[in-house]
Amino acid sequence: MSDSAFLKIERLKKSYDGVNALNGIDLTLAKGDFLTIFGPNGAGKTTLLKIIATLLKPTSGGVTISDYDIEEHPEEFRNSVSVISHQSLLYNELTAKENLEFYADIYSIKKPEEKVAELLKLVGLYERRNSKLSEFSRGMQQRISIARALINEPSLILLDEPYSGLDQHSSMLLKKQLVKLHDDKRTIILVTHNLTFGMESATKVGILVKGKVAFFKDRDEIDDDNFDDTYFNYVGGKTI
Ligand code: ATP
Repeated sequence: MSDSAFLKIERLKKSYDGVNALNGIDLTLAKGDFLTIFGPNGAGKTTLLKIIATLLKPTSGGVTISDYDIEEHPEEFRNSVSVISHQSLLYNELTAKENLEFYADIYSIKKPEEKVAELLKLVGLYERRNSKLSEFSRGMQQRISIARALINEPSLILLDEPYSGLDQHSSMLLKKQLVKLHDDKRTIILVTHNLTFGMESATKVGILVKGKVAFFKDRDEIDDDNFDDTYFNYVGGKTI
């Protein structure tokens, strides 16, 4: 793997009982890249994220993070990755603090109280740390999900439709949070149908169509005014 390659996906294929969800994905990201992936329903976006998250095995091909191969070093690989989706993976009857402490314990975090406090402050919910999750709005729960996903200090964060079910205001807050999360050390892959928010945070943009990367460019090379048209050209006029 070259020095600048952090995540390398090669000839990745996945079939479900004869349905080809991924038809040979090749993708390389450097550390600190923020890739937004767009694509129509059924293009294979969630399948791709699930394979990178080690939740699903590929039919063929490989994924490597830094020097960890998904097959050869599954544990190290898994510890480098966190997933945030619209399923919060949190417990309604526990407080925000208790939820995060639960995950801190799973990952054997050395100073759990400090880590949990730091993350609650990062997502702006430290003052509400003793409220039960069931008392939080969807947007606030999503912020706790972000804190939860950061507990193991992942080098790769995968976001699957995090805007789903959020109103405009919560979506804007989430976008700001994602921009804040993004730094030189963290690589982020975001899958979304929201062209505006997806474009605003990205450094790289991809479009997946029928299990293949149909479009892949640096964000800087993309003309915002024409991106809607570009998108619809690539997906063949289908709506997202
Ligand atoms: P969406 O935007 O609707 O979430 P997506 O791009 O995330 O779609 P995937 O969920 O990855 O698409 O699905 C890709 C293809 O694989 C689709 O044809 C889908 O029907 C199929 N598929 C996904 N999961 C399964 C499964 N568990 N069993 C069988 N087929 C599946």
